[in-house]
Amino acid sequence: MTSKEFQAAIDEHQFRLVFQPQIDCSTRKLRGFEVLVRWDHPQAGLVMPDTFIPVAEELGMIGAITEQIITMALDWYKNTPKVHGTSISVNISGKSLLDAEFSMWLLDACQNASLPPRRVILEISEAATAHDHVLARVSLGRLRDLGFRVSVDHFGVSQSSLAGISDLPLWEVKVDKSIAMAGGPEAHETIKAIVNEGKSLGLTVVTEGVEDRETLQYLRSIGCNVAQGYYIACPMGGDLVEDWMVAHDEAREQNLL
Ligand code: C2E
Ligand code: CA
Repeated sequence: MTSKEFQAAIDEHQFRLVFQPQIDCSTRKLRGFEVLVRWDHPQAGLVMPDTFIPVAEELGMIGAITEQIITMALDWYKNTPKVHGTSISVNISGKSLLDAEFSMWLLDACQNASLPPRRVILEISEAATAHDHVLARVSLGRLRDLGFRVSVDHFGVSQSSLAGISDLPLWEVKVDKSIAMAGGPEAHETIKAIVNEGKSLGLTVVTEGVEDRETLQYLRSIGCNVAQGYYIACPMGGDLVEDWMVAHDEAREQNLL
């Protein structure tokens, strides 16, 4: 993967977006969607983000890619009236987080799409805040002041504690999918501890990687706010979202979730 290939991917619009629903654990109502990218590579076929995002970051291409992804996501949101009022979560790399110009660009993009910033949740990896804590605090403060909500992604896999980031202006914490997917008493204890600590800090807690009904029931029993995972829905193309919403409402009304 080269810079030239990434530039061609941007110029030729080879990135595709999929959307994964997030639901309120207690009411099962839709909270919003996480935006996930795929690269429809002309030779390699569909390339997953874990493969190419780290390379794009290393080559200094992630800023331009993130802007294109966000532009596409806002366009989808604007043109899908049924999702209005729900939130849209986008993954942001550490570099964009620290970039003051990015926050102004984002505000402008939201205004053009008539989307209030409070509907936008910026998911940043925990590692991005650890690298330069002071700078992260300033950058996150700027985003918060503009009205955006910030979520700490991939939480619970390293040794860090919520206490260590309690001075950051965060709105949400996301328990990494590997924890719920591991299952068992140890995973349950980890999730419970993050839920309790997160809530005591006034944070919304999201658990992802929810692959079965029992996990969703457990999350509800411990007061986790939001769930995301294959049990609820796999990431889907934007054109499928409205039909999924109808089916989900029916399942919810019949207590099938
Ligand atoms: P992530 O932020 O932790 O995103 C969640 C990943 O977990 C997604 O994989 C999603 O498909 C998967 N997932 C969700 N629920 C389940 C489940 O119940 N079971 C299993 N097995 N997997 C589940 P995906 O789409 O391959 O994304 C991988 C990572 O790539 C993301 O992890 C995120 O760190 C990064 N990424 C994806 N899209 C973007 C993007 O637009 N920008 C940036 N900077 N990074 C992105
Ligand atoms: Ca994420």
